[in-house]
Amino acid sequence: MENIKNKVIIITGASSGIGAAAAKKLASLGAKAVLSARREEKLKELTQDLGDNAMYVVADVSKRADLDNLIAKTIEKFGQVDVLWNNAGIMPISFLEEGRVEEWDATIDINIKGVLYGINAVLPHMLKRKYGHIITTASTGALQTVPGASVYCGTKYAVKAIMDSLRKEVVKDIRVTTIYPGRTDSELFETIQSEKIKEAFKDNFDNTPALEGEAIADAVIYAIGQPATVNVNDIVVRPLGEG
Ligand code: NDP
Repeated sequence: MENIKNKVIIITGASSGIGAAAAKKLASLGAKAVLSARREEKLKELTQDLGDNAMYVVADVSKRADLDNLIAKTIEKFGQVDVLWNNAGIMPISFLEEGRVEEWDATIDINIKGVLYGINAVLPHMLKRKYGHIITTASTGALQTVPGASVYCGTKYAVKAIMDSLRKEVVKDIRVTTIYPGRTDSELFETIQSEKIKEAFKDNFDNTPALEGEAIADAVIYAIGQPATVNVNDIVVRPLGEG
């Protein structure tokens, strides 16, 4: 794809699930893929398979300095950042009455602050170039709430608001895309620790249809692959059977 080839594309949360699937697809289309997450072994393994046009940078998105380092390392190696995809996220859902405050804090730190830190780290570079594309993975949980997922949905509603506002701030020069996936096969559900949630949603977790990460990757690749003057704002992708 002409508009993907040689683009320098950073993906956070690239050690598994949607991010890993996207990194593979983008590298196969000739992009320079920068894979980022916390688990170095996973990143190393994935990057090795992708050849010279890929690199990895270990970063915890809840740490502001890690995002600065991610952008700096990318520019050092590839000279620029064309796309930042804020994809990292966790979903340790629970009922509010359980008061799992540490999980609430981590969800807010990773899903909201991580997105803000990424945007802020890359914006000076993109604004200077008057060119760039910022993508963030929200969720259909940013469009409707689910009992037990109040904090997770809250973070994704916040992501929607942040991305909608960002688009208005940088609309002249920088493309801004929010992707809203429905249920997708990944390690995300392993972040759930609440036994009450596991029990309450047992049937849903086992029986609800799910997408493959590739389906979300393809939707984002569509947005990246458009001509520079085409700004794909929002994409909602659900598995058939999910309402
Ligand atoms: P995975 O759990 O497979 O992927 C999550 C990724 O985020 C991993 O690479 C993980 O890597 C990374 N991550 C988690 N915490 C941090 C952190 N503090 N710093 C950096 N990276 C971190 O799940 P998905 O692929 O499904 O999730 C990707 C995104 O899609 C998330 O934002 C999720 O909310 C969203 N989403 C997923 C849906 C689904 O049904 N799966 C539906 C809707 C949205 P590591 O542990 O190595 O850091």
